[in-house]
Amino acid sequence: MLRLRSSRPAAGLPGHRASGPEAVRPGILRRLLPGSRRKPVRRQPRVWTAAAAVALVLAVALAAGALPAAGAAQAAPAAAKEDSQQRKLREMCDRVGVMTGLPWQSVAALERYERTLSRAHPKSRPLPPNALVGVFVGPERWSGPLNPDPEDKSPVSIRAFGGIGRDGSGDGVADRNDDLDRLYSVAHQVRRKGTSPDDFAIGLWEYYQNTRAVQRVLQFAKIYRTFGKLDLSRHVFPLPVGTVYSYRSTWGNSRDWGGTRIHEGTDIFANYGVPVRSTSYGIVEVKGWNPYGGWRIGIRDLDNLYHYYAHLSGYEKSLKPSDVVRPGQIIGWVGSSGYGRPGTQGKFPPHLHYGVYRDRGLVEWAFDPYPMLRKWEKAELKALRVHKE
Ligand SMILES: [Zn+2]
Repeated sequence: MLRLRSSRPAAGLPGHRASGPEAVRPGILRRLLPGSRRKPVRRQPRVWTAAAAVALVLAVALAAGALPAAGAAQAAPAAAKEDSQQRKLREMCDRVGVMTGLPWQSVAALERYERTLSRAHPKSRPLPPNALVGVFVGPERWSGPLNPDPEDKSPVSIRAFGGIGRDGSGDGVADRNDDLDRLYSVAHQVRRKGTSPDDFAIGLWEYYQNTRAVQRVLQFAKIYRTFGKLDLSRHVFPLPVGTVYSYRSTWGNSRDWGGTRIHEGTDIFANYGVPVRSTSYGIVEVKGWNPYGGWRIGIRDLDNLYHYYAHLSGYEKSLKPSDVVRPGQIIGWVGSSGYGRPGTQGKFPPHLHYGVYRDRGLVEWAFDPYPMLRKWEKAELKALRVHKE
């Protein structure tokens, strides 16, 4: 389920989240923990066995990447298909990179950003069936605004009418349904100013007329440059699996705490100092104090999701905005900061507030992270068990 969070314009206004992820209020805690208004309370863990200590050691090993990802063997056919699609997409990015002079990471970032838009707006951005490339170009932009044939495939007449459609596959036609033609056409538009990083940013601005779009593509390109591969889909649970924590679905709890805000996220209760890990590959967008969220970190991932980690007792010191992170990387520690001036702590039991927001171009929507959390947790637990056998 999606919920409208705000209707701000797309321009990347600083502090534009002030009424969103920050809106964590004490009422939700009172509801979760009846009778525990202010005092920190140790929660009975949901799962607590003598094996937890062993599991913790394994969790740390897993976090460090010492163990294979979960479910690898069972998911073989799907993974093979995924692999071959990633390979094809990478080939196309390489090819368009050579054709335009752009680094493949920039082409990949452009494709990725377009894909997130197409996923968020499937009706207004319909892609051909089995499209590998997520780029969408409307018929008018493709063929030229005055072109009498909106489905024109002739590069010559398209150019005459001022359309952006080009032939990227080398078959002589500029086909809006062809993956390479779409990817090349948009990359070519964006690189018209040149191929330096500044030129790329200016080209993006001219194409999208939207600072947020520019920021996203540059963020994605930095992530691809850091890891050097397209497949960056791995996720982990935010706390090390095997440590003591408890959580349940609290999505949308709101009516009994009187405010205008709903609870947009999942509270994961754990003791002070339990490590908080990035759940995804991504880039740090926000780090600092907020009156509601306390010490909090916001991380943008390649699905254009904003992951919000609040009430931390502290951060990983070396981490700063625009740093790239990987899943499992420690970003801070569980705490009870928030609801006051910078440094305020202890007004509620220590927990991680984890929220996820989807950027839909003009608005950001919060959605319930609980099902994803369960999925990531299960996968990690399974990997731990497989390793122990
Ligand atoms: Zn919360």
